[in-house]
Amino acid sequence: SMASPALLMRVVASAYSVAEKAATIVRNVMSAGDLGIVEKAGPNDLQTKADRLVQMSICASLARKFPKVTIIGEEELPTDDVTEDLIEDGHCEEILKKPCPTQYTGIKEEELVIWVDPLDGTKEYTEGLLDHVTVLIGIAYGGKAIAGVINQPYYNYEAGANAVLGRTIWGVLGMGAFGFQLAEAPAGKHIVVTTRSHSSALVNECITALNPDHVIRVGGAGNKIIQLIEGKASAYVFASPGCKKWDTCAPEAILHAVGGKITDIRGNSFQYNKEVKHMNSAGVLATLRNYDYYASRIPNTVKESLVP
Ligand code: AMP
Ligand code: MG
Ligand code: MG
Repeated sequence: SMASPALLMRVVASAYSVAEKAATIVRNVMSAGDLGIVEKAGPNDLQTKADRLVQMSICASLARKFPKVTIIGEEELPTDDVTEDLIEDGHCEEILKKPCPTQYTGIKEEELVIWVDPLDGTKEYTEGLLDHVTVLIGIAYGGKAIAGVINQPYYNYEAGANAVLGRTIWGVLGMGAFGFQLAEAPAGKHIVVTTRSHSSALVNECITALNPDHVIRVGGAGNKIIQLIEGKASAYVFASPGCKKWDTCAPEAILHAVGGKITDIRGNSFQYNKEVKHMNSAGVLATLRNYDYYASRIPNTVKESLVP
């Protein structure tokens, strides 16, 4: 008889289904028309009804199945008293059938940390830039991002009524990443993707110093990593605090699973143990290929302005 699947694969398989339910909630809140927008730190730091419901759905669903796992979500909300209609208990059978990379087969529940961004790109969601939005579930072990799920609820929304709306991308280190077509950015061109709603003088100074052929300004950390792995951009550059561990954990696992690299602007890798500071204070630098080219061109003045 088959041994029961490794914990990591069970968590990823469940996170896949939990993220699909999250995407349904994100679409339903938008079509119902009442976003219930609340300002957190200010007008560029918003929370909607979708952020709240999805946070409760993901955290309560995963906590019920994996009670000893540490789950850290962006929104500060209670996870007890979550109504049954928000609970997803399914899993992706296809993921469960795949063998777990041998270095992860012995992982125990209490050793995992799950970083949840229920809705990444909230500002863009409220402005109707719907394909910028992603749901991020990142899985960390030993302080490293080792697996992740990115759901894009409005993938294909401009492709017409017959197109399938939404997609789920997932990956595990040592296994690869699935649910999209890996592509490299045009050779010899420097296309930088960066923030659209959280710019600053330093963010722009850093991009100017890279002398890119083109700059893409879009919302969402998840969305920007998708731009890298689909060959739309060659580097994600964000020389500012603001991005948090739940923004980078799932994207990092997927990017690393396909051979890319993500660090802060100074070249330090991110840590994802449960005690870590949430803020990525020294910004983000990520590429699928040619990381060293971009890292070597970040000005020292920019690096020195960002304290990890
Ligand atoms: P962006 O590229 O602007 O979409 O930012 C990526 C992620 O980091 C999103 O979750 C943002 O909400 C978050 N973020 C970046 N900068 C800030 C900021 N200044 N204040 C609050 N959140 C930020
Ligand atoms: Mg976010
Ligand atoms: Mg969010």
